Amino acid sequence: MAKNNEKEIGITVTKKDNFSEWFSQVVIKAELVDIRYGVQGCIVHMPWAMKIIRLIYTKIEEKVEEDEHDPFLFPTLIKQENLLKEEEHAGFTPEVFWITKGGNTTLEEPLALRPTGETQIYPMYSLWLRNHNQLPFKRYQSRHTVFRNEMTTRPFLRGREFLFFETHNMYKNHDDTLIQIKKDLEMMKELFWDEWKIPFKFFVRPQWDKFLGADNTYVTDTLMPDGKRNQMSSTHDLGINFAKAFNIKFKDENQKEKFAHQSCWGPGIWRLMAGLIAIHGDDQGLILPFSLAPYQIVIVPITFSKNQELNEKIINKCIEIKKQLSNLYRVHLDLRDEKSPGFKFNDWEMKGVPIRIELGPKDLENNQITISRRTIKEKSQINFDDIINKINLETKKFQKEIETRSTEYFADNTRNATTLEEIKKIISTFRGFVKIPFCSIETGEECANLIKAETQGAYVCGEEWPNSEDTPKGSLCPVCGKSAKKYVYIAKSY
Ligand SMILES: [Zn+2]
Repeated sequence: MAKNNEKEIGITVTKKDNFSEWFSQVVIKAELVDIRYGVQGCIVHMPWAMKIIRLIYTKIEEKVEEDEHDPFLFPTLIKQENLLKEEEHAGFTPEVFWITKGGNTTLEEPLALRPTGETQIYPMYSLWLRNHNQLPFKRYQSRHTVFRNEMTTRPFLRGREFLFFETHNMYKNHDDTLIQIKKDLEMMKELFWDEWKIPFKFFVRPQWDKFLGADNTYVTDTLMPDGKRNQMSSTHDLGINFAKAFNIKFKDENQKEKFAHQSCWGPGIWRLMAGLIAIHGDDQGLILPFSLAPYQIVIVPITFSKNQELNEKIINKCIEIKKQLSNLYRVHLDLRDEKSPGFKFNDWEMKGVPIRIELGPKDLENNQITISRRTIKEKSQINFDDIINKINLETKKFQKEIETRSTEYFADNTRNATTLEEIKKIISTFRGFVKIPFCSIETGEECANLIKAETQGAYVCGEEWPNSEDTPKGSLCPVCGKSAKKYVYIAKSY
């Protein structure tokens, strides 16, 4: 293949120099999305993205079901009356799309397109919940979309219609709420980090930055390569706020009526995709963690030769290897006739497939395959008899490599500061997380606003939870100079 052609297919900027353009090119060139749908903020999710997303959904669904959540699915439309009940809590109405007509007939009452599940689900909870034996009551809704009237949109970061997952739970008391929030965190650690190697911090957001209807909001924030935080999930401790608004009550052991405590958890499917793409990817394209790769191994036969008999032998051997590995891995044999091996290599690199196997005449002669990991350039050879063992080792090495990269990346982009000058300097040069002593995430809004103004938009993300970090004795808030007992993290945001 001609060099120029390859250049067009590849990404034309580096991730380091122009992250924003790099991201825009990767989502298109890896065939994740088509942005030409023609409605602002609405994208077409292409097959490669849908295969990854389906794996993400499946993993999350398995986790919550293990934790005794049951699935349900609510309609897309919400009664105006119910949505407005939440207004004082959630203030969602400026972002809501309304349907006012059915055909030519104006509807008696406008219907809202779901911006999130609370106001559709909780009126039903008030009908369903009767007594304490039903608690905890754990449900989830999955593989649906929600709608928000966003002005600035970007694939996988912000859109007018995007993919959603949400749990909505009820409990007898606040202790049970906190137990679940810790459980939600545990599930995220097991998936986001242990399996997918997306590093994150778990914060309790400052009071002024929480979901309005919640007593507390907990989030997982990761960092994008442009130094901005990407909020990948939120967990809301709703207290009894919604129970009061929607009259959700149960009779306790003594037949006394009580409001249900509630929490909801939403891992952001899009935001997870954005994290995967941005954190693992490189100048050749995506790098997918092993458990989220639609194809974990791709086999490319090298059939340059005019010798048809030899080519057939090579392909037959590839088919045999695919069969052998398919019991253990998701394997794809690339038999596209019209594409050269070089094109195929670039294509699967762009799509982030973790392991590539090549098999050419020389390999066949030597009873071996040639293998390479997406994370390194070097190739190595494996004897046919040893394939299963060696591939197993390669997958472990691959996961270890992306883990090491992610760990270093996160550490490199987290810095300490104790004065406003230091904060400003770090935010203007490196960005990323800045860890600072801070007066209070309950009452420090003015200090947070000043930091935001002085840094052109860095937020106080919150304190780490459940174990917040104590500052050394005598630490002071860099803004107001009052005593600062805890560290917070600040960062710019999308
Ligand atoms: Zn302060």
